[in-house]
Amino acid sequence: MTDSFNAFVINKNDDESSKRKTAGAIASLSLTDLPDEKVLVAVEYSSLNYKDGLVVTGKGRVCRSLPMVAGIDLAGTVVESTDARYQAGDKVLVNGYGLSESHWGGYSQMQRVNPDFLVKLDTRFSSEQAMAIGTAGYTAMLCVMAIQDHGVKPEDGAVLVTGAAGGVGSMAVMLLAKLGYSVTASTGRVESTQDFLTSLGASDVIDRAVFDVESKPLAAEQWMAVVDSVGAQPLASVLAQVKYEGIVAACGLAAGMGLPTTVAPFILRGVTLRGIDSVMASQLRRARAWKAMAELVDIELLASLYEVRPMSELPALGEQILAGQVKGRVVIDVNR
Ligand code: NDP
Repeated sequence: MTDSFNAFVINKNDDESSKRKTAGAIASLSLTDLPDEKVLVAVEYSSLNYKDGLVVTGKGRVCRSLPMVAGIDLAGTVVESTDARYQAGDKVLVNGYGLSESHWGGYSQMQRVNPDFLVKLDTRFSSEQAMAIGTAGYTAMLCVMAIQDHGVKPEDGAVLVTGAAGGVGSMAVMLLAKLGYSVTASTGRVESTQDFLTSLGASDVIDRAVFDVESKPLAAEQWMAVVDSVGAQPLASVLAQVKYEGIVAACGLAAGMGLPTTVAPFILRGVTLRGIDSVMASQLRRARAWKAMAELVDIELLASLYEVRPMSELPALGEQILAGQVKGRVVIDVNR
């Protein structure tokens, strides 16, 4: 085991004139720098999510203390453990739990982690594949579980996925299609992503512009269920189109934080707006989501959905994901 290793570390931005209060760069750390947690993990891969974009660019105030090792996901192998649940050699992953916010995260070759945060990696997935799924895929699965638990069956009607070409969206399209739902994918990049979304199983690909206009409180009923990763006006327009007693699983804010809706869909159509949080979801729900994905994810299709990039490219990748330019998923190889 080498004592010195690389990590992507966020610090206060020395440029006082900049709007970005933090700045990130690769730094050399040693094991004594790591937090005092019970499980030491040799990290193999992490991933790039929207929240990682906010952190690595300094555009969002996500880190609650500095310095902070960024990266909300990690997958790797246990090196040492003083917790009876984990032994050296175990393959593990973490999604969320405040990594990169209040706990040091996955953009590091080594990390010490609270064992309560760990999930044992299903033998069906390599560390790279687990991070191709990452928080985005696991959140998509939590959304799909909410739709299933609401009782929506494939024969009940079309399911809409917004932000479909992004990480959560593309994984949601793939998982829903595998379960037999007829999936309509909404994207701002119809031309460049139509083939991609169709290959993941979308029956229809539509331009997201149709949702980005003020809507009547109620519109023609179209969707039995929705996975929404964008929020704001598009979510309000979608809510007005949800069928009687349908459900929207809302997990994101790529279009903004606001929600200019009325109560009409809720009180006149019995629509459910179900919030989805992946960060603090219970271990029980995580285990259910990862077990379901081990059964549902087609490894070949997954391979078509992501690319692997080195940690050194994080600043540029962060800008790209915030600009909505990343297609599918990006796995971060922390060892190059
Ligand atoms: P991505 O950037 O990969 O995907 C977001 C997608 O949203 C983009 O690819 C784009 O898709 C679409 N989009 C971007 N800007 C706009 C806009 N102005 N109007 C409408 N659509 C837009 O991010 P992730 O998939 O990683 O995350 C998606 C959202 O979900 C983020 O807001 C993130 O914070 C949130 N999230 C929440 C979690 C939770 O626990 N609740 C966990 C994980 C993510 P297209 O080009 O196809 O239109």
